[in-house]
Amino acid sequence: MLPLVKTSIPPREILMPMLERVLYSGYVAQGEVVDEFEKKFAEYIGGGYTLSLNSGTAALHIALILAGVKEGDEVISTALTAEPTNVAIKMVGAKIRWADVDYETGNISPDSIERVINSKTKAIIVVDYAGVPVDVKKITEISEKYQIPVIEDAAHALGSKYKNKRAGNHFPFTVYSFQAIKHLTTIDGGALQVLDKDLYEKGKIIRWFGLDKKLTRMDNNIQIQGYKYHMNNVNASIGITQLAEIENLIQVYIDNGKFFDEQLKNVKNVELLNYYRDTEPSYWLYTLKVENRAGFIKMMTENGVMASELHKRNDLHAYLNDFPSELPNLDRFYNKMVHIPCGWWITKEDRERIVTLVKQGW
Ligand SMILES: *Cc1c(COP(=O)(O)O)cnc(C)c1O
Repeated sequence: MLPLVKTSIPPREILMPMLERVLYSGYVAQGEVVDEFEKKFAEYIGGGYTLSLNSGTAALHIALILAGVKEGDEVISTALTAEPTNVAIKMVGAKIRWADVDYETGNISPDSIERVINSKTKAIIVVDYAGVPVDVKKITEISEKYQIPVIEDAAHALGSKYKNKRAGNHFPFTVYSFQAIKHLTTIDGGALQVLDKDLYEKGKIIRWFGLDKKLTRMDNNIQIQGYKYHMNNVNASIGITQLAEIENLIQVYIDNGKFFDEQLKNVKNVELLNYYRDTEPSYWLYTLKVENRAGFIKMMTENGVMASELHKRNDLHAYLNDFPSELPNLDRFYNKMVHIPCGWWITKEDRERIVTLVKQGW
């Protein structure tokens, strides 16, 4: 079966010497290897400051704290995402206010965001779902008009671009996950890209118990709540070897995604997404809308290709559904959407076969 997601680990000859050196170096905690990973990651993103962390969820949590979200506040979010996006909002004691999605992309709808903004709204979380960038232009306009910070959850979208710049350059906070099945894995890990230097410095303190690592323990005087969210040298060493090949790896996702965009146009019972102007997806999954989804999934599965909706819409979790809302576009999108694999393990023959299967119908 061609899986929908698959872990990519660098070849033994490249990874093992580096990993072994770090493991037996006597220093496996957060140290210079982490600094090196952060430096290289920031270079890859091309702007902002990188706060490496032990998960993407930690990145979301710190972003919400840095955005000033407190207990009783509201955060606007989307229900079409992995659960961590919304669980993190509850970690700061805030309530989740749903915005609807845009039927063309499945991403949060700027118009819907604007409709649910109120005096309690303290942040907006947007998700580049399945690797498709959000409507950066319109969301930025709304953020500026109402002076509400945006957190971009780019856990699916490492390497995606808007106006030729990678995710990480567009909003004050951008979240990445290096969990097992993401584009880049450090086994577990994450990063928060912060555009403002002072907020980045504050983030460093929050990720380490509220302690300032530049000072001795005795000279420290904790002022704010911190956590144990840092990355360690072992995970960072895996990250460094992954980064060396990341452009090539993501390019395979993109080539396969573009191939499907081209080949699945005008196929009966298939609707393709309509990406926003000036955006380039990094196609973590390939998303399409189909009639009779159950039939589609059955046909693909019988032919050895995994197809699935993957995520449960988050408003179906009672704990996350703070304000039950009518989300008509999500209803329509969620009924038809399905993901098919398009990652680094999909060969040219595989993708041809997938296209043939879809064209044959179900
Ligand atoms: C994976 C993921 C996260 C969380 O990342 P972890 O590293 O697993 O904590 C957050 N948001 C989305 C959309 C994800 O897919």
